[in-house]
Amino acid sequence: MSKFDPRLNPGEAATLREPAELVAHGLAALSDLSDLEKVAARYAVAVTPDIAALIDPDDPDDPIARQFIPSAEELVASPGENADPIGDHAHSPVTGIVHRYPDRVLFKLVHVCAVYCRFCFRREMVGPGKATALPPAAYDAAIGYIRAHPEIWEVILTGGDPLMLSPRRLAEIMADLAGIDHVRIIRIHTRVPVAEPKRVSAEMVAALRVDGAATWVALHANHARELTGKARAACAALIDAGIPMVSQSVLLRGVNDDAKTLEALMRAFVECRIKPYYLHHGDLAPGTAHLRTTIEHGQELMRQLRGRVSGLCQPDYVLDIPGGHGKSPIGPDYLAPANSFSEVREVDAETRYRVLDFCGDVHLYPPKS
Ligand code: SF4
Repeated sequence: MSKFDPRLNPGEAATLREPAELVAHGLAALSDLSDLEKVAARYAVAVTPDIAALIDPDDPDDPIARQFIPSAEELVASPGENADPIGDHAHSPVTGIVHRYPDRVLFKLVHVCAVYCRFCFRREMVGPGKATALPPAAYDAAIGYIRAHPEIWEVILTGGDPLMLSPRRLAEIMADLAGIDHVRIIRIHTRVPVAEPKRVSAEMVAALRVDGAATWVALHANHARELTGKARAACAALIDAGIPMVSQSVLLRGVNDDAKTLEALMRAFVECRIKPYYLHHGDLAPGTAHLRTTIEHGQELMRQLRGRVSGLCQPDYVLDIPGGHGKSPIGPDYLAPANSFSEVREVDAETRYRVLDFCGDVHLYPPKS
């Protein structure tokens, strides 16, 4: 495992933010330093002690390193990549709000995260040097927008990572939102329980519970190794306090793009009482082509997952359509009209369907009598 073991080096238990620090801790090669400094000049870098301790520096293909340690490949722009790959700007009526679907909004409170993922879809907007927390006037305008739109049932706190805020500030925000009658659900998207689990303190958990609205937490993790004992304890603290959790993962080449790894991740979520929710196809964020898979490969993995784990462990495989057109499920089809297949173009085929089972075998529904 990494030379960065906070138990052995308590004085060094700080987040690594400079490529030179990554080299000094054995997490990047000295020969790559110049390229990594070019990457870091454009995209934020942060590796917390908890994440650093998970990386095996002797494994050139370490799936944790691949998510957080910058790579020269990020300097390569590929066709179709875009600074705003999911089209947040096109649906932002006021600063901090993205109103893409009628009944819900994204509320982007902060532009910082505990760690910076190399595939981040908001990589041009998050990190030190970008904007920080919403200024008070912009915050008030965002709350005013939500209050003025009674169709908004759910507010999704995202960013940046909302759990980078202090418990005191989060409690104020939760109270402001829950005080709006039509806001019934507050969902928080976070990577903090895995990246910096100590932030999930008793004060933080208390801040997230609020009268007048139900709080949900969506955890972003991409490999079962991220769900350490400390991460599991942080999630248990939230769930035991009555805050249900769902998962979000990104399908990433060299991280989780094989059925065994995905299966382990989904099982780990369910063991933690976290319902697998989304498996995102990698967005067209700049310099991330080396981490994306094909959609065909993602569909094949979803087929394999269906055969390996129960429905409790199945996420929806989704694509955010570039340009701000929202998410669509892109998982494999299991059902098709039977008359579209030559083998069943016969008696009453138009009233039947072709259904694939979890082994890939085809059946007619209703069956032939
Ligand atoms: S935690 Fe989320 S917002 Fe922050 S860098 Fe990772 S993917 Fe981007």
